[in-house]
Amino acid sequence: MDDRHLYVQYGTDGRRMARELLTAADAKTLIPANASIAIKPNLVVAKPANSGATTHPEIVAGIIDYLRENGFNDITIIESSWVGDNTRRAFEVAGYTELSRRMNVPIYDLKSDSSMAVAVESEEISLCRRAVEADFLINVPVLKGHCQTVMTCAMKNLKGIIPDREKRRFHTMGLDKPIALLNKAFRPGLTLVDAICGDLNFEEGGNPVPMNRLILGADSVLIDSYGASLLGLAPEEVRYIIHGEKLGVGKRFTGKELIEINRPADGQDRAFRPTRAVQGLARCVKADQACSACYGSLIHALNRLDEMGMLSRLREPIHIGQGYQGKTDNGIGIGRCCSGFAQGLGGCPPNARAILDFLLTKV
Ligand code: SF4
Repeated sequence: MDDRHLYVQYGTDGRRMARELLTAADAKTLIPANASIAIKPNLVVAKPANSGATTHPEIVAGIIDYLRENGFNDITIIESSWVGDNTRRAFEVAGYTELSRRMNVPIYDLKSDSSMAVAVESEEISLCRRAVEADFLINVPVLKGHCQTVMTCAMKNLKGIIPDREKRRFHTMGLDKPIALLNKAFRPGLTLVDAICGDLNFEEGGNPVPMNRLILGADSVLIDSYGASLLGLAPEEVRYIIHGEKLGVGKRFTGKELIEINRPADGQDRAFRPTRAVQGLARCVKADQACSACYGSLIHALNRLDEMGMLSRLREPIHIGQGYQGKTDNGIGIGRCCSGFAQGLGGCPPNARAILDFLLTKV
C-alpha cells in the first residue's frame, strides 16, 4: 500500500468490508512489527452510528479482526467527544463499551489524558499523550457535512486527539488553519473512512444519507478532497484542505488514485427511513432500485443545488436506479443504469460533484 492510492469498497456490512479492504490494500505493510496501535473513531456526540454522527462500531471490529489476524495484538480505542459531551456516554451509546467487552480491547477517554505540546510552523499544538505515544494510529472518521467547515472527514477527526481547552482555542483561531496545522503536527498511519451513512449537514447527525462505502488511504488531503467530491464539493470550498495542501500535509485527489475493490451491488437499503430533510431533497427524484451509493450521491448534489438557491429551477424529474437499465427516455437520468436517457450522466456510481456539475446545466 502506498500514499497515493485510495481504496474504496461498497456495501453495508462494515465489519466484513473493513477487514476485506485492509486485506486488499495489504495495509499491514505500513504497520511496524509489534506496534502499539490506537484506533480513533469519531464519537463526537453520544449518538448511535445510524444517526449519521458517529463511526459504526462494526467497522472498528473489522479493523481489530484484521490486526489480530496479522499478529498485531496491542490495540486500544481512543477518543474525546466534543466540548460539552461526555466521551464515556458516547462510548456507551455508540456501542463501544460493548465492543470493548466483547473483543477485549481497552477504550480510553482522552478527556482524562495528559497532554504534550508539539511545535509546528510558528505555533504550538497540544496533543493527548495516548495518541502521540501509540506507535501507529488508525483514524476512523465519518464523512459528513459540517455547519462551520462545510464537511468533516479525516483531517478534522483529529480534533478528537487534542484536549478540550485546545479545541476551544481552535474555534477562536477559525478552525480551518488550526486543523491543517494539527494534521501537519500529527500524521495518522492509516485512515479508514466510514461513509456508510454520514449526515447531510451537521456533525451531530440527524439527517443520515446512506452512501454505503468505506474509503481507505494514508494521505489525509487526498482522502478529504475525494470525500469532498462525494458530498458535491470542490476542494476549494473546504478551506482546511487547501491550508493542509499548502503546509505539505498531502496532495489532493485528481481522479487517478482510486482503486475500487467492488462495485455497488444490491444497493437497496431497505431499512433506511429518510428524514424529512432528505425527503424534501428527493421530491424531484424518480428512483427505481437505486443503489445507495448512487442515490446518496444524488441527495448530496441536490443539497448543494438547494444551497445555491437553484433546486426550485429543476423542472423535470431525475431518474436513477437499476430499474431503468435498458430503457430509453427523453428525460434526465443519473448513472450508468440510465444510459438510455437522452439527458444522461454516466458513472457507476457517479460522485456528487459530477452530478452537481451536470444538474447545473439543466437549471
Ligand atoms: S449506476 Fe446503477 S448499478 Fe451503478 S451505482 Fe447507480 S444504480 Fe447502482
